[in-house]
Amino acid sequence: EVYEGFDTDFYYITRKDIPEKHHRFGRFSHKGDFGKVMLMGGSLGKMGAILLTGKSALRTGSGLLQLNIDKDQNLIAQVGLTEAMTTVDEKPDLSGIDALGIGPGWGTENRLEKLEYVLENFSRGIVLDADALNLISKNEKLLLKLPANTILTPHLKEFDRLVGSSENQLERWQKAKELAMELRIIIVLKGANTLINLPDGRQLFNSTGNHYMATAGSGDVLTGMITSFLGQGYSPENAAICGVYHHGLAGEIASKSKRRGLIAGDLIQTIPDTYIELG
Ligand code: AMP
Ligand code: MG
Repeated sequence: EVYEGFDTDFYYITRKDIPEKHHRFGRFSHKGDFGKVMLMGGSLGKMGAILLTGKSALRTGSGLLQLNIDKDQNLIAQVGLTEAMTTVDEKPDLSGIDALGIGPGWGTENRLEKLEYVLENFSRGIVLDADALNLISKNEKLLLKLPANTILTPHLKEFDRLVGSSENQLERWQKAKELAMELRIIIVLKGANTLINLPDGRQLFNSTGNHYMATAGSGDVLTGMITSFLGQGYSPENAAICGVYHHGLAGEIASKSKRRGLIAGDLIQTIPDTYIELG
């Protein structure tokens, strides 16, 4: 819904917007149609983050998943997520990968070279979250190396680290819009009513979700969902929109029974229900 009469490009994403954004699959689809996703993240003590992201990508419908993790964490990854393959290369083979998600649990120590390698060698669809964003904050020249349509998913603090602090939320929204337009990227500014900033200046607010989603790992789940949609062939814009909408809807459905007991893993288990809910 566009708010007419206001001098903004704000838009409020509601249920009716979503079905038309969904990719259609037919009776003769094969797993190649559902995309091969690579996720980079995790480190000692933070492997849970990338495992949540990986499970989320699979539950969102990705056909194949590869986790690129530190060698000494391989056992944890293989046992933690049976359906995933793992690689431990510093410069992994990116051919055949449809979408790449980077950052959950990654840490920022000694990651710069790897992030630069990826940004220079892959442009099919990238989602940057968490420590990938923190790494960019520490090395601002990386901002200029982001391929067009790269999707950034900062929460407020990560966003402030990227662009400097703001007086209020309105100022933050303005900065997000300007940065998205300047770099031709998509910035998903997370929070209650997550704001998607598109390269053409449109700003889309999400209508789903609730405060029970303010829990550890919630954002890692979102990264898995957006990366999965990208890998399934959705446009970056639609991947971001469907990602935040379904993520919020999963939160709403799961919190009916879990309430304040909701944990990020519940969101993942509820992703399939969001497809049923939307019909
Ligand atoms: P992160 O801080 O990276 O774990 O991301 C938190 C996730 O939970 C984001 O997707 C937020 O949009 C969502 N979230 C956090 N707090 C709320 C809230 N009060 N209402 C709705 N969604 C929220
Ligand atoms: Mg996060």
